[in-house]
Amino acid sequence: MKRVKTVILGAGLSGTYAGYLLTKSGDDDFIILEARDRMGGRIETFNSIFDLGPTWFWPEMQPALSRLVETLDLETFDQYDTGDLLFEIDPHIPPRRTNGYHSSPQSKRFIGGVSQLVSALASQIKPEKILLNSLAKSIAIDDGQIIVTSQPRNNQQHSLFSAEQVLLALPPRLAIETLKFSPALPQELSNQWHQTSTWMASHAKYIAIYDQPFWRQSGLSGSAQSRIGPMVEIHDASMPEENAALFGFIGLDAKTRKTLGKDQLTHLCRQQLVRLFGDKAKQINADFLKDWSQETLTATPADLYASHSHSPAPSFTVPLGDWKNKLFGIGSEWSSQFPGYLAGSIDAVEKALLRSSTDQKRKAPDAG
Ligand SMILES: Cc1cc2nc3c(=O)[nH]c(=O)nc-3n(C[C@H](O)[C@H](O)[C@H](O)COP(=O)(O)OP(=O)(O)OC[C@H]3O[C@@H](n4cnc5c(N)ncnc54)[C@H](O)[C@@H]3O)c2cc1C
Repeated sequence: MKRVKTVILGAGLSGTYAGYLLTKSGDDDFIILEARDRMGGRIETFNSIFDLGPTWFWPEMQPALSRLVETLDLETFDQYDTGDLLFEIDPHIPPRRTNGYHSSPQSKRFIGGVSQLVSALASQIKPEKILLNSLAKSIAIDDGQIIVTSQPRNNQQHSLFSAEQVLLALPPRLAIETLKFSPALPQELSNQWHQTSTWMASHAKYIAIYDQPFWRQSGLSGSAQSRIGPMVEIHDASMPEENAALFGFIGLDAKTRKTLGKDQLTHLCRQQLVRLFGDKAKQINADFLKDWSQETLTATPADLYASHSHSPAPSFTVPLGDWKNKLFGIGSEWSSQFPGYLAGSIDAVEKALLRSSTDQKRKAPDAG
């Protein structure tokens, strides 16, 4: 059994940021267990450039994330939205062209995709602190110590970690539905976590890559809205100067998408781009469809139904019982400021680490 002070479950933005902050504070008595074979969680970048998960952040509204981006010296740029917007409402009527609008507050993107943020944080953490392919299965309290059991992929043998505290860097609903806690968490807290929908877990995104952002030459911004679908909202996903692309959110629900299948859905997305942007849209270099509802390390069956608003943040601490001061929720959905957003990860981690260090000082024998 490996002993550490802190076990962090999940190496998405939240878990990676927690590892970064602990390392920076001089505390490297931690381990991050990540079930996937990659870091980032909902942050995933196709061809090392195009975002299949999150795309934007809003520095004017999200100063803490913005400061972190500056500290890490990451390059960002404004979402391209110059030109007209296309709007399709009826399959028998050609798309209507209307004045586009600029996002306000300005939405920003990362050069090289959002995974640059995770890579920059991870580069400051000792590599041996991050265990990929390690699926946490249960968390138990035994004689005052927490025992985390994980199962390495392709390996029947369990790994055991003993810790003083566990930081849950995964969505609350996923945590309560997939991890076994013993003793069980208070019922009211379990209910709260279960009711917190995982932001964007029910969604799917399609991206098509081109040689040139040809739509810009015709005065189009690349933005489109559709009541026909399958994509309901489309945006320019190009990187500055090179790597042109369009992406869209699929409007069909998770079950319908599954029934249609990836090939048919991809075909319909390609057709829609041609309907909207003309024959040049046929010249796709590569395209990709990412359905987050089929990722069992993101979505649970309850997430198959789209939630159109962010759930209010549930309690990130355990108010009573054996788990009090031992377990903290640090996934983005636990942020009261920006629940479900990238900026929510920053808020949730900072708040939980502050709380846990206050608890530790209170427990220390020389505390006043
Ligand atoms: C399509 C899409 C578009 C989005 N767009 C935006 C946007 O434009 N702007 C924005 O601010 N936000 C956006 N978001 C939300 C944003 O991606 C999330 O808020 C953020 O990435 C959450 O990070 P996290 O680390 O809290 O959780 P996650 O990224 O979900 O990370 C959880 C990690 O835990 C791991 N894990 C799960 N179970 C276990 C287990 N048992 N053991 C070990 N590891 C486990 C997972 O593999 C994962 O790596 C979008 C999300 C999606 C899917």
